Amino acid sequence: RQGKKDRAFKIYGLVRDFYRILLGKDIGARALQYLESRNLSGAARETFQLGYAPPGWDNLIKFLAARGIREEEMVKLGLAQTRETGGCYDRFRNRVMFPIWDSQGRVVGFGGRTMGDDNPKYLNSPEGEFFNKGQLLYGLHIARKGIREIGYAVLMEGYMDVVSTYQHGVTNAVASLGTAFTRDQAKLLMAYTHDVVIAYDADAAGVKAAVRAAEILQNSGCQVRIATIPGAKDPDEFIQKNGLAGWQKIIENAVPLVQYKLMQAVKTYGLQNKRKVLQEVLPNLAAVASPIELEEAIKQTATVLQVNWETVLEEIKSFRKNTR
Ligand code: ATP
Ligand code: MN
Ligand code: MN
Ligand code: MN
Repeated sequence: RQGKKDRAFKIYGLVRDFYRILLGKDIGARALQYLESRNLSGAARETFQLGYAPPGWDNLIKFLAARGIREEEMVKLGLAQTRETGGCYDRFRNRVMFPIWDSQGRVVGFGGRTMGDDNPKYLNSPEGEFFNKGQLLYGLHIARKGIREIGYAVLMEGYMDVVSTYQHGVTNAVASLGTAFTRDQAKLLMAYTHDVVIAYDADAAGVKAAVRAAEILQNSGCQVRIATIPGAKDPDEFIQKNGLAGWQKIIENAVPLVQYKLMQAVKTYGLQNKRKVLQEVLPNLAAVASPIELEEAIKQTATVLQVNWETVLEEIKSFRKNTR
C-alpha cells in the first residue's frame, strides 16, 4: 500500500521535472512567453515548479517508458489515456503545467492551463486514488510558514491567484481549485490556523461560493471574514493593479459572514426592501450562539437596515420560534 503510494509520488516527481525542463528549452518558448505575459516572475516559476507539457501524443509516455514504467500504470496515475482503438496518449498536451502537492509537498497531480482559448481552460488530473481535489488545498505546503507568521490564511479559487499574489508578497494564500470548498479542506486548513479570509473571484459564482465556504469553515469552528475585490475579477488581477498595499486594504475591509450577506442582499433587493434583506440573514443571526457576538451582529444589521436594534431582535425571536 505505502510502497505503491511512494512509487506514485516518485513518478509524479519525475513528470514534474520533465515538464519543468521543457519550459526552459526552445520548445517551451511560447509557454514561457505566456507566463511572462501573465507577469509571473522566474522566482515564482521556480517556487511553484511550473512547467510545460509539449504538443504531441506520446512525449511523456516515451519519457516514462524509458524509465521502466508501463503504460497501464501511466493510465492509473492519470498521466495517459487509453484510445478506443488501443494504445495510449498523453493526457496533458501543449499546456502550462502546475504541479499540485499534498500538504507535505509531494506531487499528487497536475493542473494544465491552455495558452489559448481551448476548452477546458484548465485540465486537471482525473479524480482518483491520488488526486482528490476536495481533500487538498493548492499551495498549502508553501503557505503554511506564512500562515503561521501572519496568523491567518487566505482562501482563493485558483492556482494563478496563489502564484501571482505570492510573487507580490502574499505568503499565506491557498486555493481550493475551484469554488466547491469542502469540510475536508476546512479540517486540513485548521491544522494551521482557525482564522481565514476568503478571497474568491468577484463574479456571481465567486460570491455564492464564498458564502458557502464561510458557512463550512464557521461550522468547523473557524473565524471567517469575506473579502470583496473591487475593480478586478480576482486576486491575481487585483494585486497586479494595486500591489501589496492595495491587497492589505482588501484584507482590512473583509467582513464577517452576516455583514457580507447583508451587503449582497442590499445590492440585490435595495434598501427599500428591508424585509427581503433581513430574511437573507435571519438564519445566520438566529444561529449565533455567543451573546456578545449576537449583540454585535444585531447592531450591524440594524445600522445597515436603518431600523432600531430592538426590531431586529424581535425578528430573530420570532424566526427562532417559527423554526423550532
Ligand atoms: P486565469 O486567470 O488563468 O484565467 P483563474 O485562476 O482566474 O485563471 P478561474 O476560471 O477563475 O481561473 O478558475 C479558478 C480555478 O478553478 C482554477 O485555478 C482551477 O483550479 C479551477 N478551474 C477552473 N476551470 C476549470 C476547469 N475547466 N476544469 C477544472 N478546474 C477548473
Ligand atoms: Mn472563477
Ligand atoms: Mn484569473
Ligand atoms: Mn479567476
